[in-house]
Amino acid sequence: MKKILIGTHNQGKFKELAYLLSKGYRKISPKALKLPSPKETGKTFSSNSKLKAKFFSKFIDFPVISDDSGLCIKSLGNKPGIYSARWAKKYGSFKKAMRFILKKLRGKKSRSAYFICSLTYVYSSGKIVTVEGKIPGRISGKILGNNGFGYDPIFIPSKMKITFGQMKKLKKINMDHRFIAFQKLKKKIKI
Ligand code: IMP
Repeated sequence: MKKILIGTHNQGKFKELAYLLSKGYRKISPKALKLPSPKETGKTFSSNSKLKAKFFSKFIDFPVISDDSGLCIKSLGNKPGIYSARWAKKYGSFKKAMRFILKKLRGKKSRSAYFICSLTYVYSSGKIVTVEGKIPGRISGKILGNNGFGYDPIFIPSKMKITFGQMKKLKKINMDHRFIAFQKLKKKIKI
């Protein structure tokens, strides 16, 4: 069976990418191989996703898929952006970071936001392919729903009335920024 390393220590992302990849792969986590995490020193989603995939690739002789993703909120100058995971650390938890965001947005005209995912595939030869997926939406008034992970309970995708956190798991996985990026990747490589 073909092997692929899903280069993330984030369980939520791992599950989504594992679902999107075909059944023909043995999906391996960095945790299973006791691999460390790279420092995310990039200034863009794309540079961070390449950096992660290349980092994990150094330890193995089969392909890697890694993403760098985040939530960008228009009236906060597209923050937390590449700092999405770091905001949860800074404020103590995702719940606290979400509460902080809701407070910051009080009285703001725009609640527009998008989730973005830069997805990088590294062949065992070292060749790299990177694509990007975005899903537009808005920030809800409250933290709603227990499904998903990260900022899912405050993000309502465009044309919908419920947050990712309230959505059935498979519905979210089949429409989000990671899904959109993955469809683009499938157009570029046989995966
Ligand atoms: P990083 O790509 O490891 O820097 O982490 C991205 C962070 O963005 C995650 O820890 C989540 O906080 C957030 N994020 C990315 N994708 C999603 C998603 O699909 N739902 C909710 N939060 C997400």
